[in-house]
Amino acid sequence: MSAGQPASEFQHDDVVELVPLLRRVIGARVRDRHVVEDLVQETLTRVMAARQRLEPRTLAPYAVVTARNLTRSLATSQDRSKRHAHRLIDLREPVLPEEEALRREERRAITTALARLPQQDQKALVAHEVEGTDTATLAASRDSTPGAVAAQLSRARARLRVEYLLELEQAEPPTARCRPVLLALSAGDRRRQRDLDAGGHLLACGWCARLSEPLLDRRRTASVAGEVRIPIRTDADVVTARRQGRELAAQAGFSATELTIIATAISEIARNIVMFAERGEVLVGLVGENRRQGVTVVARDAGPGIPDLEQAVRDGYSGYGGMGLGLPGSRRLMDEFEISSEVDKGTTVTMTKWRRDA
Ligand SMILES: [Zn+2]
Repeated sequence: MSAGQPASEFQHDDVVELVPLLRRVIGARVRDRHVVEDLVQETLTRVMAARQRLEPRTLAPYAVVTARNLTRSLATSQDRSKRHAHRLIDLREPVLPEEEALRREERRAITTALARLPQQDQKALVAHEVEGTDTATLAASRDSTPGAVAAQLSRARARLRVEYLLELEQAEPPTARCRPVLLALSAGDRRRQRDLDAGGHLLACGWCARLSEPLLDRRRTASVAGEVRIPIRTDADVVTARRQGRELAAQAGFSATELTIIATAISEIARNIVMFAERGEVLVGLVGENRRQGVTVVARDAGPGIPDLEQAVRDGYSGYGGMGLGLPGSRRLMDEFEISSEVDKGTTVTMTKWRRDA
């Protein structure tokens, strides 16, 4: 295929036109031309994923800063894999102190970021995502409509993402324009991006260039109809898994109480991954069988494994020092529960909840 043709049936031409520019930007920093092509591809993938939320003039600047970010993080990850190479030999080694500190830091940042939102937004987010109140109930309690509540929640989430990232930076943004620009990007508000000249700002401001990537990269939670897959590494991913799993289960018509139960089980199982395995994934899918409707949750990790499964699922064993329900709790909450684990290979938990029809 020649470079000028669209890469697929979709109209990607304006993105494909960015290729020569990206080759220049990346080629100036990386010598290996295979690596350059890889990074160009990866940049295009991200730009395509974000383009719906970007106004046209912001597209090229975003592509340039993404290419720079990717090039930089390639260098960092090469350093990191050198630093962690010893862990390949002993997988049972305890979590490094720096990682433990990182998790504490993320938890603190979420709390602080939430406190920075307007009261109404805080209340709505906590009610919806922590307590599991659905949009219809929220709308009724505040004399509003489910649509208006959903829009408010989406704005609140966009704001929370920005405040969370700023909080992790632990410094105020360098200019007065940074916060509004990041907010417009996070919310996918194209008109506001144009008004603020978000593209120009991205190119001029290294701070926003760096933060724009985590704000716009949502491929991590890509979903197909009836299924969501969420990579799990941090506490923020646990929240995402719980929220997305809950939203999917809501499509299957589960009651509010059942949704809370499902979300809790997902949360516990995902938290186990963060605490023990460092990384893994949670898949949530709708299932149907003999006119029954249900939701199946699969949690996989490549962690150290669990030597004594029987003990791990027994009541009273929480799996970690917190107040969580852990594996026994998840087993109690769901209708079906299966676990398999191999030391040094990893653990897979499969659990299903069936809808109780009134
Ligand atoms: Zn800025």
